Amino acid sequence: MTGSKEILIVGAGPTGLVLALWLARRGVAVRVIDKTAEPGTTSRALVVHARTLELYSQLGIADALAARGLPFTAINLWARGRRVAHVELGALGRGLTRYPELLIVPQDEHERFLIEHLRHAGVEVERRTELTGFEARDGDVLARTRRADSAEAESSFAYLVGCDGAHSTVRKTLGIEFPGGTYERVFYVADIELGGAQGELDLKELNLSLDDADFLAVFPLKGARAARLLGAVTPAAQQHHELTWADVSGEAIARLALDVRRVNWFSTYHVHHRVASRFAAGRVFLAGDAAHVHSPVGGQGMNTGIGDAVNLAWKLADVVSGRSPAGQTLLDTYEPERIGFARRLVATTDRAFTLVSRGGRLARWIRKSLVPVRCRPSRGAPSCAGSCSGRSRKRPSRTAAGCSAAKGRQRARR
Ligand SMILES: Cc1cc2nc3c(=O)[nH]c(=O)nc-3n(C[C@H](O)[C@H](O)[C@H](O)COP(=O)(O)OP(=O)(O)OC[C@H]3O[C@@H](n4cnc5c(N)ncnc54)[C@H](O)[C@@H]3O)c2cc1C
Repeated sequence: MTGSKEILIVGAGPTGLVLALWLARRGVAVRVIDKTAEPGTTSRALVVHARTLELYSQLGIADALAARGLPFTAINLWARGRRVAHVELGALGRGLTRYPELLIVPQDEHERFLIEHLRHAGVEVERRTELTGFEARDGDVLARTRRADSAEAESSFAYLVGCDGAHSTVRKTLGIEFPGGTYERVFYVADIELGGAQGELDLKELNLSLDDADFLAVFPLKGARAARLLGAVTPAAQQHHELTWADVSGEAIARLALDVRRVNWFSTYHVHHRVASRFAAGRVFLAGDAAHVHSPVGGQGMNTGIGDAVNLAWKLADVVSGRSPAGQTLLDTYEPERIGFARRLVATTDRAFTLVSRGGRLARWIRKSLVPVRCRPSRGAPSCAGSCSGRSRKRPSRTAAGCSAAKGRQRARR
């Protein structure tokens, strides 16, 4: 044992960056390594939840991020090109949080923002530096790294945290299983620019179209004609060649009368739902995508990783600084708290994602059960807003506030 009090953070995605920033602000020595040459340059996770902004407000950075982002206050639900519901998020979240709106900040901008604040706190991310292995010993962790110039090094740390994404080296080295599954359909994300026509869509709001064989989410982006599309690739196309924009299922795009002029970024991906069987092993921890991956429904992936980072950060800071007499007992609370949260979240997003992406069932229910309504807070609103914003730890109610309002009106008209 060397008596090192330094913490090694592997991975400079949002999880690793928030963990490093929180620890650095508490005066804990950290090293952050990442195997890539530079931060990510694509928008990936767009939505920053209320809970994340509340955590950032404790670091004094929430308002600065909000100033860079694009708030959106409402969700519209469409079926067969007809708007069937309008949910006002601001009204749902009011009284529950200082940040009742959802905030759009593309992940690359978000990461740059965190890196700037980390730099102000005196920490630079060490790029082109890969963790190749480690040994957890009694009083420390011996980590092996390799730089792009092939230089290898061994150093000792008090703790090691794997924030190294879904293919985590840390998780694999520990032999921790990653049970779950992969959805059959291939999905796409595209950052696009629209021409003249955008149908009846309000691009400042989130629009969700649920049709028989297709679903499409249209997220607001900065710029009058910019939007992020998320949808499914046609089943026929996903069997073969390298997928392009031509392979997207265009039915919902046509129904919403979207005139896509330019595709700035296009990516396809399989959606997985997995939770690691352990989040901790002695002095080594897993956080973020290294510990759990789930469907994009609700935009929870990045936000949950940031929640892991903050939960672990204050505990590590208290233990390393000697402020907590509970020591290891305090650190032992990380796994049950965060694994429980991740399992509930994966189960919820799995149900929601299966419903919206299977095509047909939900769309049929919506067309039969909903009539065009404007949804305002009802008795069920707090649980709905809480689960959408990442603030609720309870299972969300089966009926969202907006949908119950719509159904009530339908019954009254019969
Ligand atoms: C197309 C797409 C759209 C998405 N949309 C959303 C969304 O709308 N909302 C949402 O919340 N989430 C979304 N996500 C998920 C979100 O991007 C992830 O949840 C988030 O990036 C996880 O952050 P992380 O820091 O845990 O891991 P990552 O961002 O994966 O970062 C891991 C880092 O570790 C580094 N690394 C890996 N192995 C090593 C090693 N051995 N040594 C050193 N460094 C290493 C990698 O280079 C990487 O920088 C989306 C993801 C994709 C791909």
